[in-house]
Amino acid sequence: MNRVVNYQQCIKESYQYVKNLPSKGALADYIPELARVDDSKFGAYMTNLDGEDFGIGDDLEKFSIQSISKVLTLTMAYQKLGEKIWERVDVEPSGAKFDSLILLDTNKGIPRNPFINSGAIVVCDILVSQLGDPKKEFLQFVRDLADLPELEYSKEIASSEKSCGYRNVALCNYIKSFGNIENDPSEVLDFYFLACSLMMTCQELSQCFGFLANRGRRIADGKKIVSSSQSKRLNALMMTCGFYDESGEFAFGVGLPGKSGVGGGIVAVYPKNYTFAVWSPKLNLKGNSYLGMKFLEDFTTRSELTIF
Ligand code: GLU
Repeated sequence: MNRVVNYQQCIKESYQYVKNLPSKGALADYIPELARVDDSKFGAYMTNLDGEDFGIGDDLEKFSIQSISKVLTLTMAYQKLGEKIWERVDVEPSGAKFDSLILLDTNKGIPRNPFINSGAIVVCDILVSQLGDPKKEFLQFVRDLADLPELEYSKEIASSEKSCGYRNVALCNYIKSFGNIENDPSEVLDFYFLACSLMMTCQELSQCFGFLANRGRRIADGKKIVSSSQSKRLNALMMTCGFYDESGEFAFGVGLPGKSGVGGGIVAVYPKNYTFAVWSPKLNLKGNSYLGMKFLEDFTTRSELTIF
């Protein structure tokens, strides 16, 4: 830590702060299985580079990480393809909804960034091309990030999303019409839905993202996942594109790179310091966890543990 601060106390105070706030927002009911989640849940877990982790609330309960998986699929594809990956997907904020089709036409099938659905679908296509068994190998990749051998997909959530994922089907077919999808769209989407369905706790998520706080290396043993330059770029993308058309608001309020998912999870990274995973299922109108954002804003303001 670059400043002596009682961060455990700050976490407790931020937790009390959000517990006293009105719980606004709604569950992501466009995926039927996600509408069944208990919306009163709240968990938070911090993983520190100094080894002193701390969690609170429902931090050990599994939830569907949804779009947080987009950072992990991108990391794996970046490992495989290196800088050539940016020929397939751009690095600019979209300023549009997570499942928007509008910019694809102007940009000739090159998604604005890898953290909106169109971009993540292209990243999944890259992994389908690069890997013999993408579903199995991606799961193993995430398990290895933080030594989590028990990690699993939720087949129920993946098939629930598949049953009504019309916009993602449209996105994938539209991108293919520009030649930026190499494989069969149904194979790419099956993998995409499964990756989004990964079930993790706040503790597991924050530990799994530790390499992004540690210059691309696993915290536990220093094993290199990506280079420090690639880690810089992944963090930069999370900072500018991690929250769809609310990325500016998150940077403004929280002051950290991060990524949200419609399961109500948020991961935030303070490079060279800590990672934080927060979970509260009710989403604001932009599709980001309402209380999760409030918690992180309060925590970084209270503790001054922010990059700015
Ligand atoms: N699986 C979700 C979808 O494609 C992910 C969206 C999100 O978490 O933002 O709609």
